[in-house]
Amino acid sequence: MKVTFLGTNGWYDSTTGNTVSVLIQNPDYDILLDAGNGIAKADRYITQKKPVYLFLSHMHIDHIAGLHTLCKFRLKKGLTIFTQAGTKNALETFVAEPYTVPFSMLPFRNEVRELAEGMHHLPFPVACLPLVHPVPCFGYRLELENAIITYCTDTGVCDNAITLARDADLLITECGLKPGESSPDWPHLNPEDAIGIAQKGRVKRLALTHFGAEIYRNVVERQAIFEEFKKVFPGLIVATDDLSFEI
Ligand SMILES: [Zn+2]
Ligand SMILES: [Zn+2]
Repeated sequence: MKVTFLGTNGWYDSTTGNTVSVLIQNPDYDILLDAGNGIAKADRYITQKKPVYLFLSHMHIDHIAGLHTLCKFRLKKGLTIFTQAGTKNALETFVAEPYTVPFSMLPFRNEVRELAEGMHHLPFPVACLPLVHPVPCFGYRLELENAIITYCTDTGVCDNAITLARDADLLITECGLKPGESSPDWPHLNPEDAIGIAQKGRVKRLALTHFGAEIYRNVVERQAIFEEFKKVFPGLIVATDDLSFEI
Protein backbone atom coordinates (compact mmCIF):
# COMPACT_ATOMS: atom_id res chain seq x y z
CA MET A 1 0.00 0.00 0.00
CA LYS A 2 1.38 3.37 -1.03
CA VAL A 3 0.91 6.70 0.74
CA THR A 4 1.60 9.94 -1.15
CA PHE A 5 1.39 13.43 0.31
CA LEU A 6 -0.10 15.73 -2.32
CA GLY A 7 -0.29 18.84 -0.12
CA THR A 8 1.23 19.37 3.32
CA ASN A 9 0.49 22.99 4.21
CA GLY A 10 -2.08 24.23 6.68
CA TRP A 11 -4.08 27.39 5.95
CA TYR A 12 -2.63 28.46 2.57
CA ASP A 13 -0.22 27.53 -0.21
CA SER A 14 3.35 28.81 0.00
CA THR A 15 6.80 27.92 -1.32
CA THR A 16 6.67 24.84 0.93
CA GLY A 17 3.72 23.42 -1.00
CA ASN A 18 -0.03 23.14 -1.31
CA THR A 19 -2.75 22.85 1.28
CA VAL A 20 -3.49 19.45 2.68
CA SER A 21 -4.36 16.28 0.78
CA VAL A 22 -3.10 12.67 1.04
CA LEU A 23 -3.46 9.78 -1.41
CA ILE A 24 -3.54 6.15 -0.26
CA GLN A 25 -3.40 3.47 -2.96
CA ASN A 26 -3.94 -0.24 -2.53
CA PRO A 27 -4.83 -2.86 -5.16
CA ASP A 28 -8.54 -2.13 -4.86
CA TYR A 29 -8.98 1.58 -4.15
CA ASP A 30 -7.51 5.04 -4.50
CA ILE A 31 -8.34 6.90 -1.29
CA LEU A 32 -7.94 10.64 -0.80
CA LEU A 33 -7.87 12.33 2.59
CA ASP A 34 -8.96 15.96 2.34
CA ALA A 35 -9.09 18.15 -0.72
CA GLY A 36 -6.81 21.13 -0.19
CA ASN A 37 -5.05 22.45 -3.26
CA GLY A 38 -2.73 19.43 -3.24
CA ILE A 39 -5.56 17.31 -4.64
CA ALA A 40 -4.90 18.91 -8.03
CA LYS A 41 -1.81 16.65 -8.23
CA ALA A 42 -3.81 13.45 -7.74
CA ASP A 43 -4.16 12.80 -11.45
CA ARG A 44 -0.38 12.26 -11.59
CA TYR A 45 -0.89 9.12 -9.54
CA ILE A 46 -4.45 7.87 -9.95
CA THR A 47 -4.65 5.05 -12.49
CA GLN A 48 -8.37 5.28 -13.42
CA LYS A 49 -8.67 1.53 -12.82
CA LYS A 50 -10.08 1.73 -9.30
CA PRO A 51 -12.93 3.55 -7.60
CA VAL A 52 -11.84 6.71 -5.77
CA TYR A 53 -12.99 7.58 -2.25
CA LEU A 54 -12.46 11.02 -0.73
CA PHE A 55 -12.81 11.63 3.01
CA LEU A 56 -13.22 15.25 4.12
CA SER A 57 -12.29 16.19 7.67
CA HIS A 58 -14.11 19.53 7.78
CA MET A 59 -15.19 22.52 5.76
CA HIS A 60 -12.27 24.90 6.39
CA ILE A 61 -11.10 26.07 2.99
CA ASP A 62 -7.57 24.66 3.29
CA HIS A 63 -9.28 21.21 3.29
CA ILE A 64 -11.71 21.73 0.43
CA ALA A 65 -10.22 24.46 -1.83
CA GLY A 66 -8.94 21.92 -4.35
CA LEU A 67 -12.43 20.61 -5.11
CA HIS A 68 -12.71 23.17 -7.90
CA THR A 69 -10.06 21.18 -9.81
CA LEU A 70 -12.17 18.01 -9.89
CA CYS A 71 -13.53 19.02 -13.30
CA LYS A 72 -10.15 18.20 -14.91
CA PHE A 73 -10.29 14.60 -13.62
CA ARG A 74 -11.76 11.69 -15.56
CA LEU A 75 -12.42 9.11 -12.88
CA LYS A 76 -13.70 6.18 -14.90
CA LYS A 77 -14.67 4.18 -11.82
CA GLY A 78 -16.34 7.12 -10.12
CA LEU A 79 -15.78 9.19 -6.99
CA THR A 80 -17.51 8.89 -3.62
CA ILE A 81 -17.02 11.81 -1.24
CA PHE A 82 -17.61 11.24 2.46
CA THR A 83 -18.29 14.20 4.70
CA GLN A 84 -19.52 14.65 8.24
CA ALA A 85 -23.29 14.52 8.83
CA GLY A 86 -24.69 18.04 8.50
CA THR A 87 -22.02 19.34 6.09
CA LYS A 88 -23.33 18.16 2.69
CA ASN A 89 -25.30 21.37 2.10
CA ALA A 90 -22.27 23.55 2.84
CA LEU A 91 -20.19 21.44 0.48
CA GLU A 92 -22.73 21.64 -2.30
CA THR A 93 -22.90 25.42 -1.81
CA PHE A 94 -19.12 25.68 -2.17
CA VAL A 95 -18.83 23.36 -5.18
CA ALA A 96 -21.42 25.18 -7.26
CA GLU A 97 -21.93 27.89 -9.80
CA PRO A 98 -20.85 30.66 -10.02
CA TYR A 99 -17.71 29.52 -8.15
CA THR A 100 -16.97 26.30 -9.99
CA VAL A 101 -18.45 23.30 -11.78
CA PRO A 102 -21.04 21.70 -9.48
CA PHE A 103 -20.86 18.01 -8.58
CA SER A 104 -23.83 17.27 -10.82
CA MET A 105 -21.92 18.57 -13.88
CA LEU A 106 -18.59 16.79 -13.29
CA PRO A 107 -17.53 14.56 -16.18
CA PHE A 108 -17.60 11.37 -14.13
CA ARG A 109 -19.98 9.57 -11.79
CA ASN A 110 -19.86 10.97 -8.28
CA GLU A 111 -21.77 10.96 -5.03
CA VAL A 112 -21.56 12.92 -1.77
CA ARG A 113 -22.42 10.86 1.30
CA GLU A 114 -22.72 12.08 4.87
CA LEU A 115 -21.22 9.97 7.64
CA ALA A 116 -22.39 9.83 11.23
CA GLU A 117 -19.97 9.35 14.09
CA GLY A 118 -19.09 5.67 14.54
CA MET A 119 -18.12 2.63 12.49
CA HIS A 120 -18.92 2.12 8.80
CA HIS A 121 -18.15 -0.40 6.06
CA LEU A 122 -17.62 1.59 2.85
CA PRO A 123 -16.74 -1.19 1.74
CA PHE A 124 -13.62 -1.22 3.94
CA PRO A 125 -14.03 -0.54 7.67
CA VAL A 126 -13.83 3.14 8.63
CA ALA A 127 -14.33 4.67 12.07
CA CYS A 128 -14.96 8.38 12.45
CA LEU A 129 -15.01 10.49 15.60
CA PRO A 130 -15.19 14.24 16.21
CA LEU A 131 -11.99 16.09 16.98
CA VAL A 132 -11.44 19.38 18.81
CA HIS A 133 -11.66 22.33 16.40
CA PRO A 134 -13.67 25.56 16.05
CA VAL A 135 -15.95 23.85 13.50
CA PRO A 136 -17.16 20.23 13.43
CA CYS A 137 -14.23 18.10 12.29
CA PHE A 138 -13.88 14.33 11.86
CA GLY A 139 -10.84 12.16 12.38
CA TYR A 140 -10.82 8.87 10.44
CA ARG A 141 -9.45 5.39 11.07
CA LEU A 142 -9.25 3.24 7.93
CA GLU A 143 -8.64 -0.52 7.95
CA LEU A 144 -7.06 -1.55 4.68
CA GLU A 145 -5.27 -4.83 3.86
CA ASN A 146 -4.81 -5.58 7.55
CA ALA A 147 -3.16 -2.21 8.08
CA ILE A 148 -4.66 0.68 10.00
CA ILE A 149 -4.20 4.27 8.84
CA THR A 150 -5.51 7.06 11.07
CA TYR A 151 -5.96 10.62 9.85
CA CYS A 152 -6.53 13.36 12.43
CA THR A 153 -6.39 16.98 11.37
CA ASP A 154 -7.34 19.65 12.37
CA THR A 155 -7.40 19.12 16.11
CA GLY A 156 -6.11 19.90 19.54
CA VAL A 157 -5.10 17.05 21.83
CA CYS A 158 -8.18 14.94 22.58
CA ASP A 159 -9.18 11.43 23.63
CA ASN A 160 -10.87 10.74 20.29
CA ALA A 161 -7.61 11.25 18.42
CA ILE A 162 -5.95 8.70 20.71
CA THR A 163 -8.87 6.28 20.30
CA LEU A 164 -8.70 6.51 16.50
CA ALA A 165 -4.91 6.10 16.57
CA ARG A 166 -4.92 2.99 18.79
CA ASP A 167 -2.33 0.48 17.43
CA ALA A 168 -2.37 2.13 13.98
CA ASP A 169 0.34 1.26 11.48
CA LEU A 170 0.39 4.90 10.44
CA LEU A 171 -0.98 7.98 12.15
CA ILE A 172 -1.16 11.05 9.93
CA THR A 173 -1.72 14.15 11.98
CA GLU A 174 -1.14 17.85 11.89
CA CYS A 175 1.78 19.96 12.99
CA GLY A 176 0.28 23.42 12.88
CA LEU A 177 2.55 24.80 15.57
CA LYS A 178 6.24 24.92 16.50
CA PRO A 179 7.61 23.09 19.58
CA GLY A 180 6.33 24.63 22.80
CA GLU A 181 3.68 26.74 21.05
CA SER A 182 -0.02 26.53 21.81
CA SER A 183 -3.18 28.19 20.48
CA PRO A 184 -5.95 27.53 23.01
CA ASP A 185 -8.51 29.66 21.16
CA TRP A 186 -8.00 27.76 17.88
CA PRO A 187 -6.69 24.29 18.74
CA HIS A 188 -3.81 22.84 16.73
CA LEU A 189 -0.96 20.46 17.54
CA ASN A 190 2.72 21.13 18.09
CA PRO A 191 5.21 18.26 17.52
CA GLU A 192 5.19 17.21 21.18
CA ASP A 193 1.38 17.02 21.16
CA ALA A 194 1.40 14.88 18.00
CA ILE A 195 4.06 12.55 19.42
CA GLY A 196 2.07 12.29 22.67
CA ILE A 197 -0.98 11.09 20.74
CA ALA A 198 1.18 8.62 18.79
CA GLN A 199 2.76 7.26 21.97
CA LYS A 200 -0.53 6.94 23.84
CA GLY A 201 -2.04 5.21 20.79
CA ARG A 202 1.05 2.98 20.41
CA VAL A 203 1.21 3.67 16.68
CA LYS A 204 4.07 2.31 14.60
CA ARG A 205 4.70 5.38 12.45
CA LEU A 206 3.69 9.01 12.77
CA ALA A 207 3.58 11.30 9.74
CA LEU A 208 3.32 15.03 10.40
CA THR A 209 1.56 17.17 7.81
CA HIS A 210 -0.58 20.35 7.74
CA PHE A 211 2.38 22.50 8.77
CA GLY A 212 1.13 26.02 9.46
CA ALA A 213 2.12 28.04 6.39
CA GLU A 214 2.78 31.17 8.42
CA ILE A 215 4.78 29.26 11.05
CA TYR A 216 6.89 26.83 8.99
CA ARG A 217 8.26 29.14 6.28
CA ASN A 218 10.50 26.62 4.51
CA VAL A 219 11.18 22.88 4.46
CA VAL A 220 14.39 23.37 6.45
CA GLU A 221 12.24 24.39 9.43
CA ARG A 222 10.24 21.18 8.97
CA GLN A 223 13.42 19.11 8.71
CA ALA A 224 14.56 20.62 12.02
CA ILE A 225 11.50 19.02 13.64
CA PHE A 226 12.60 15.63 12.34
CA GLU A 227 16.13 16.13 13.67
CA GLU A 228 14.86 17.31 17.06
CA PHE A 229 12.31 14.53 17.60
CA LYS A 230 13.51 11.47 15.62
CA LYS A 231 14.98 9.91 18.75
CA VAL A 232 11.88 10.69 20.82
CA PHE A 233 9.69 8.88 18.29
CA PRO A 234 11.72 6.63 15.94
CA GLY A 235 8.81 6.10 13.53
CA LEU A 236 8.58 9.83 12.81
CA ILE A 237 8.02 11.08 9.26
CA VAL A 238 7.96 14.78 8.38
CA ALA A 239 5.90 15.12 5.21
CA THR A 240 6.64 17.37 2.27
CA ASP A 241 4.65 17.61 -0.96
CA ASP A 242 5.11 14.53 -3.19
CA LEU A 243 6.68 12.44 -0.42
CA SER A 244 5.68 8.85 -1.07
CA PHE A 245 6.30 5.62 0.86
CA GLU A 246 4.99 2.09 1.25
CA ILE A 247 3.42 0.77 4.41
ZN1 LIG B 1 -6.56 23.21 8.31
ZN1 LIG C 1 -9.45 23.72 10.27
